Amino acid sequence: MLRFAPSPTGDMHIGNLRVALFNYIVSKQRNEDLLVRIEDTDKERNIEGKDQEILDILNLFGIEYSQVIYQSQNLRFHSAMALQLLHDKKAFSCFCSSEWLEKKREEAKENKIAYRYDDACASLPDELVIDNMNPFTIRIKKPEEAIVIKDHIKGTVTFEPNEVDSFIIMRQDKTPMYNFACAVDDMIGDVSLVIRGEDHMSNTPKQDFIRTSLGYNKKIEYAHLPIILNDDGKKMSKRDDASSVKWLLEEGFLPSAIANYLILIGNKPPKEIFDMKEAIEWFSLDNISKSPARFDMDKLKFINREHLKRLDTKELSRYVGFADEEIGELARVYLEEAGTTKELKAKIGAIFAPKIIPDEFKEEAKIMTETIKNAPYFDEYEDFKNYIMKESNLKGKHFFKPLRLLLTGAEHGPDVAEVYKYLKNYIGEIVK
Ligand code: GLU
Repeated sequence: MLRFAPSPTGDMHIGNLRVALFNYIVSKQRNEDLLVRIEDTDKERNIEGKDQEILDILNLFGIEYSQVIYQSQNLRFHSAMALQLLHDKKAFSCFCSSEWLEKKREEAKENKIAYRYDDACASLPDELVIDNMNPFTIRIKKPEEAIVIKDHIKGTVTFEPNEVDSFIIMRQDKTPMYNFACAVDDMIGDVSLVIRGEDHMSNTPKQDFIRTSLGYNKKIEYAHLPIILNDDGKKMSKRDDASSVKWLLEEGFLPSAIANYLILIGNKPPKEIFDMKEAIEWFSLDNISKSPARFDMDKLKFINREHLKRLDTKELSRYVGFADEEIGELARVYLEEAGTTKELKAKIGAIFAPKIIPDEFKEEAKIMTETIKNAPYFDEYEDFKNYIMKESNLKGKHFFKPLRLLLTGAEHGPDVAEVYKYLKNYIGEIVK
């Protein structure tokens, strides 16, 4: 079983989508199911509706999963497992107050040493614990030996017992801490491989140790993906628009192109343009670079254009908002200049919109509009052009500039003869 474990706390980040894509691809390769676990235990940060938004995005990207569970459904398992650890003396009740712990943390900071819990409550006699009415957290007893994690991307990473520490697994209000919930859920979900962002690397020894302490012998494999950097070489954050999958979709990037791009970066694919089916054939976690990938908008646009080119004409016209296939053909011509469906829509929209003519061509445009309105239908551009030229008496740039403006709404663009092929049936709508 593989799993994708998003938190419903904001717009889906491209880093998360990359994680979901890799999980999906590997689940297909290994012929294992993919579970979606919505990590909804941080009630304050949850945003209503984000869970559904995440599932909608997965569907849009063709990421199939066998089931969706909510972490909050597992709370009774978290409590039961914490009790088991207490019973086995692998965990202990900690009565240290938050103020006291905060003071210790401050002291460590002042002394410039990493804060560690001093195990003050680790071996309290039972009589001090039983019937003690003071609030308490539950801490797991720190490991006696180093924890070694073999990661598909990072290699072998060793964590000393002190780095793991006797950390809290249940809060005073008896809700599980994140690492505990996650470790237990991966165990009861029978997860075989966890692919996630490298920001979770420091959680991994803790989660591994929790399961070992619970007597779980199966070793879960790990692959921690490097972060994605923005143009400034900083971690892509919410402030970077392009970090949001929703934003990219609204900008007119195709899901297939976004997926292609996210699988391509920091990887060694046999080719640059591919679909998910192909990626399933050759993808290997071993080829994923250890160093961060850098987000490159121009590259994404290039890939998007290639995917747009591969759409059939009907689909392409649908993407630009027209039912007519001829508009799809026209959009294909404009693909040379546009990298997204939004840009394509703007180009096609300008053709049908009222035209803004610069002053220097106003007079010519007026004459030409009248001539075109009274012209018969021409199948060939040459015949159309010759007729309009003759009737309007305009020549050179005084003919060609206003003609392009009237037909396309832009001063520059593809060959008018090429555009005419697909516009000839709409001349009445375009030149009014
Ligand atoms: N909920 C975590 C996140 O969205 C993922 C944790 C995990 O994959 O283990 O970052």
